[in-house]
This record gives sequence, structure tokens and C-alpha cells, in this order.
Amino acid sequence: MPPEPGPPPRPRKRFGQHFLHDPGVISRIVESIGTQPGEVLCEIGPGRGALTDRLVETGNVLHLLEIDRDLAALLQKRYTDQTQVTVHERDVLDANLCSFSPNQPLVVVGNLPYNIASVLLIRFLSQRLSINRMVFMLQKEVAQRLVAEPGASAFGRLSVMVNRVCETRLLFDVGPGAFSPPPKVRSAVVSLKPRAEPLGRSVPDAAFEALVRQAFSQRRKTLRNALKGVCQAETIAQAGIDPDTRPQTLTVQDFARLVSQKLADSDG
Ligand code: SAM
Repeated sequence: MPPEPGPPPRPRKRFGQHFLHDPGVISRIVESIGTQPGEVLCEIGPGRGALTDRLVETGNVLHLLEIDRDLAALLQKRYTDQTQVTVHERDVLDANLCSFSPNQPLVVVGNLPYNIASVLLIRFLSQRLSINRMVFMLQKEVAQRLVAEPGASAFGRLSVMVNRVCETRLLFDVGPGAFSPPPKVRSAVVSLKPRAEPLGRSVPDAAFEALVRQAFSQRRKTLRNALKGVCQAETIAQAGIDPDTRPQTLTVQDFARLVSQKLADSDG
């Protein structure tokens, strides 16, 4: 690869830039991704290329989405001879991943910008048909929400939304010292594998998302109160759920049954 001219640009806080420099952590992430020949890879926020260099070595087709103009230019220069690599200087929040690989599901990876990680995860769920699997570095607290069980304090909207459509695994923790500059929080690497079918009754994604959002907007309230004006207590009971229970005790399947019952009641 051609040498980089001059020092890299300074980290930009507004883009959540904390660059990985620990070779051991980088190797563990690359092993967790477990790239197979022929897979199409997409890295979110490649930054200075800590993970990217290792992904490029696989020779697989690789799409890089980087919002920072200076870093995108740096990557463009560094991988100019690697024809399998495409640098997209753009905001991942506006990206349709399907357009990068219309005929083959992607392997999506990245050390995500923590300030937008939850929003991004929800976006990726709506693009899951274009995704084979995902491996992400996240703030540890967010990673714990992804693998939390009903009743746990970390269980909430993100847990329900993600686990309905993906199998989730917490792979390992990473301390702040692995990054430059070090973040104030601990991190963790997780994998997400879209399920063949969502868990529970088959209901439209939009209806599921709306009800779960409403239920957790008032997480200390009972379901009866949190869903006031949206779903009657009788509907909750008909779904086999106690209206006086709290939303964080419900399973994904409970939520799907409740949405199904609500839709049936509004049809009738
Ligand atoms: N992958 C690099 C590493 O591990 O060293 C950098 C990780 S850093 C935590 C997050 C990266 O995401 C930065 O390069 C940042 O510029 C980029 N980024 C932040 N917001 C973005 C967005 N909306 N779209 C695309 N990239 C973004």
C-alpha cells in the first residue's frame, strides 16, 4: 500500500471518533467477523483503517462508509490499488445498504460511532433482508441491552426490537485503553444474525415498532397506563397478558401477540 502523506487528521468529537490501536483487539474482531470467500463486506465508519487494513487483506469486495471527508480521502488514497474496495464518503444514516450488493446479503461490520449506535441498529433492522450478519463494537451498556432478558434492568425497547428479528451474542468486552483517544465508557463487541422469520406472531414491522415504542416510553408505568389511548386493557388481557404488569417483563412473543390482538380488535 502507498505511504500516507503527513499525519492523519485530528479526531473529531462530533463524529464519535475513537480509533482502535490495540492489535490484539483488532485481531479478535477480525476473527469474530470470520469472513468467508465471496462474501461482500460493508464497514461502517472505517476511520483511519484499523480494521479496514485487515478486511482488505481478505481480498473480498468491501464497501466503506465514512462521513468524515478527510478520512474518506485518506482511505481512498490508501486503497487506490485495491479495486475490490469502494469508499463511499457519506452519512450511513442516509444509506441504503441493499444498493451496495443487490444480489447478495452483506456482512456489515464496524466500530460504530456511539452517539448514533442505537438509531443505526434500528435502521439496520429494516434493511435486514440485505444483511447476512453483523459484528459491531458498541458502548458496553448498549451491547448489554441487546442481550438482556425480560425482567432485567437493561431490557427495553432496543432489546425487543433487535431480538425479534436477530439472534444476538455478546462476544467480548474492550476497555477504553484500546482506543485513541480513549472513550469515557467501556465497550463490547456483539454479533447479530438476522433470523429467517421474526420471533412470535407475524405482524407488520411498523405496528410492532409503534406499540413497543409506546410501551417503553413510560417504562415505570403498568402496561394499562403506558398504552392508554393506544390499546385497551381488555385487548391486553385478551392477548393473555396482565394489564397491570410492566413492559420490561414482557417477552418479544408477548409483544407480538399483543400487536396481533390489537390489530384484530381494530379490524372487528
Ligand atoms: N473504525 C475506526 C476504528 O475502529 O479505529 C473508527 C471508529 S470511530 C468509533 C467511528 C467512525 O465512524 C469514525 O471514523 C467516524 O468519522 C465515522 N462516522 C461517524 N458518524 C458517521 C456517519 N453518520 N456515517 C458514516 N460514518 C460515520
